[in-house]
Amino acid sequence: MVPQERTDSLVDPFGRPVTYLRVSVTDRCDFRCVYCMAEDMTFLPKADILTLEELDRLCGAFVRHGVRKLRVTGGEPLVRRNVMSLFRALGRHLSAGALDELTLTTNASQLSRFAAELADVGIKRVNISLDSRDPERFLAITRWGRLDRVFEGIEAAKAAGLRVKINTVAFKGVNDGEFEDLVRWCGAEGFDLTFIEVMPMGEIGAQKMDQFLPLTALRERLERRWTLVDVEERTGGPAHYVRIAETGQRIGFITPLTHNFCEGCNRVRLTCTGKLYMCLGQEDSADLRAPLRESESDAPLMAAIATAIERKPRGHDFVVDRLDRPTVPRHMNVTGG
Ligand code: SAM
Ligand code: SF4
Repeated sequence: MVPQERTDSLVDPFGRPVTYLRVSVTDRCDFRCVYCMAEDMTFLPKADILTLEELDRLCGAFVRHGVRKLRVTGGEPLVRRNVMSLFRALGRHLSAGALDELTLTTNASQLSRFAAELADVGIKRVNISLDSRDPERFLAITRWGRLDRVFEGIEAAKAAGLRVKINTVAFKGVNDGEFEDLVRWCGAEGFDLTFIEVMPMGEIGAQKMDQFLPLTALRERLERRWTLVDVEERTGGPAHYVRIAETGQRIGFITPLTHNFCEGCNRVRLTCTGKLYMCLGQEDSADLRAPLRESESDAPLMAAIATAIERKPRGHDFVVDRLDRPTVPRHMNVTGG
């Protein structure tokens, strides 16, 4: 293919530059976390899923449109067959200086196999989802997860020199006895830690909302033990950060339901079928598969991306007083969080 010039960077109608793409490479997973999936999930037919080459081409189009950060997610990205070929292909944007960061979010179940290769591709840090360090509770939350494998994955990531950030979904009455312990463990291991509020996604959203734990309550709880200092840094996402004065450790809080974070939103989400979601909390999406397949030239695809960004909404629709029903009908594994 003829190399193509970089085109205009993406700026949405509210003046926000879109520089961050999250790509779900599969809707499948080897876990069935209770807040993310039903136990008897029906997954997409394989024929609907973009090939790894197509995903690479799509990501390349976003990079040419000025995207500087790519996060690979899922489902569980590391269960997709041959996914390392995609990471290798995407790594070339890092070496070319067109991308600042390539990273992934994973449940770490397969990370012991892949950590060294991921580091070799140029990945510097990984987000690992871990809601409990207790094997039985971990199994209850993930339904199918083996905690020992996850710890092997975390060790492999450390050994490969990857920086680790732990993501923990806060669940009232489930893992709320472990928060201080998680803070201490992450501090001792040198891991960043981010707590996430449960979001009302999919048909399971409603029943989980009785376990909704506002992170303001968690913050107050941590403040009884440590001095938390607000960190000004914003990442364009729904996280805000504090530093524990006593240890220097950084803790993040992702609070999509209790705080509005949309003003600085810099991201869009691509599904493994080529649908682009301009906002995590809204249903509107743009199909990029048709323009991708329509032509060997990337011109229709580049144009479709630019048009989609013109539809990026001002903000999301999560509203706490509507938690009796899921606000967004799709499951989290569709867009990867
Ligand atoms: N399988 C990978 C993992 O678990 O890290 C990547 C995909 S997973 C959908 C991405 C993140 O979304 C995980 O940290 C998970 O805990 C979070 N998540 C899934 N469903 C959620 C929900 N209903 N509310 C809040 N976070 C959720
Ligand atoms: Fe799988 Fe991640 Fe969803 Fe858990 S949160 S079921 S590990 S995709």
